[in-house]
Amino acid sequence: DGPLASLRAGCSFASLPQAFYSRVQPRPLREPRLLHANPDAAALIGLDAAALRSPEFLALCSGAGRLAGIQPLATVYSGHQFGVWAGQLGDGRAHLLGDVRTSGGTWELQLKGSGRTPYSRMGDGWAVLRSSVREYLASEAMAGLGIPTTRALALAASDDPVVRETVETAAIVTRLAPSFVRFGHFEHWGHSHHEQKALLDYVVEHWYPECRETAGGETDTPATACRLLAEVTRRTARLIAQWQLAGFCHGVMNTDNMSILGLTLDYGPYGFMDAFQADHVCNHSDTAGRYAWNAQPAVARWNLYRLAGSLLVLGCEAPSLEACLAPFEAEFLAAYRDGLARKLGLNAWRPEDAALEDDWWGLLHAQRADFTLAFRRLADADRDPGPWLALFADPAPARAWLDRYLARRAGQGGDAAARRAAMDRANPLYVLRNHLAQRAIEAAQRGDASEIDLLLGLLRDPYTERPGFESHAQPPADDTPAVPVSCSS
Ligand code: AMP
Ligand code: MG
Ligand code: MG
Repeated sequence: DGPLASLRAGCSFASLPQAFYSRVQPRPLREPRLLHANPDAAALIGLDAAALRSPEFLALCSGAGRLAGIQPLATVYSGHQFGVWAGQLGDGRAHLLGDVRTSGGTWELQLKGSGRTPYSRMGDGWAVLRSSVREYLASEAMAGLGIPTTRALALAASDDPVVRETVETAAIVTRLAPSFVRFGHFEHWGHSHHEQKALLDYVVEHWYPECRETAGGETDTPATACRLLAEVTRRTARLIAQWQLAGFCHGVMNTDNMSILGLTLDYGPYGFMDAFQADHVCNHSDTAGRYAWNAQPAVARWNLYRLAGSLLVLGCEAPSLEACLAPFEAEFLAAYRDGLARKLGLNAWRPEDAALEDDWWGLLHAQRADFTLAFRRLADADRDPGPWLALFADPAPARAWLDRYLARRAGQGGDAAARRAAMDRANPLYVLRNHLAQRAIEAAQRGDASEIDLLLGLLRDPYTERPGFESHAQPPADDTPAVPVSCSS
């Protein structure tokens, strides 16, 4: 018994052949502290506030505890990093504790920062508090925006030293997702028919049962693989459309960071844009700008091609795979235009809106206007254009665009109050700006989780204005030092 006894635990991943994983024990943090536990994610697995306060929960989330009867494991995958085949990677600092089965679905629990595994290569298996806070906050910020993502359950910290550019301290994030399978898992088995078929069957059985194609009562493996690819293509296209519309840059869209479920996965050097720049690069390690904001759709498509290539071993024909990938652009554009229309308060997207759209991004880019507020303040720009115009250093071109836009919007009629409310549901007021995350990190490094708590409260519903939090909606002041984020975390 105990407060976690209600969890019905299993480990579906362990039904795969032994070569897919290694049984390996997490390295517990020394003298761990539960810096924060997230009630929203806890509710997904049926844990209440009392359970989150229990020593058993802290033990589980700091590497010492186990789900009843389940041995932790680390999984192997491969991938393309920055466009180059990197060979074998894998959970180098992550442990799957197992999965929790609820009436609402099954959630895997994974620790990140929990020690070395057979896949650690040169890494130390640690994660620093700084990057763990960033992952913790971003997961929930994305969930609050309605963007598919892994979730963050808990953040445990300790004084264990971790050497990066400087000496930092260790932390573990406990993550939840229906599955952490990546494109890279399929790439790893791209030359092994037996294992690739096992992986396909596993993923289809658990998460894509509608993709199973049969012939004469048996699974038709190539046809099933194509259906899966088509569905992953669709989900990925829609995911990236949502990223673009939130001004979110992932930062490391390597194929090993791409979720087979179409979730945002592996938060490292990500960024929500403040000043809009179409080719904004948030990851300082990305000197070539491969993962710039405006490159993300094309990169996702490239990554889907790598996934497709790994399915050839199943006997899929290349033209069939290409036919499954082909809808990517149309799916992306449909989701993107639909979302943009909602953000702009347009009832539907019309072909002639493309010019207005081009000039919108051109205007924001030329003046480095704030991404989030430029959308948010549009809702009211007919009644009072002042606050929106104030986002532009040179108001004349902004005014000219606004006149065209208001004329387009006026042409569709409808109730103004309803339109304004709908726009506020499509345009967040609060986003996880880097300087806000940095403030929460610095407080956390002093043992103070109040800023994490405050941000989670705002970001779980970023669309509703909260009195007293005006400064949290603001871009960083001009003299705020830029926070460099890189792959090293
Ligand atoms: P990432 O850039 O975080 O997506 O990680 C890429 C690969 O490096 C994955 O296989 C990670 O598990 C591994 N990795 C990253 N950081 C560490 C670390 N500190 N220790 C061990 N492996 C790591
Ligand atoms: Mg093994
Ligand atoms: Mg990764």
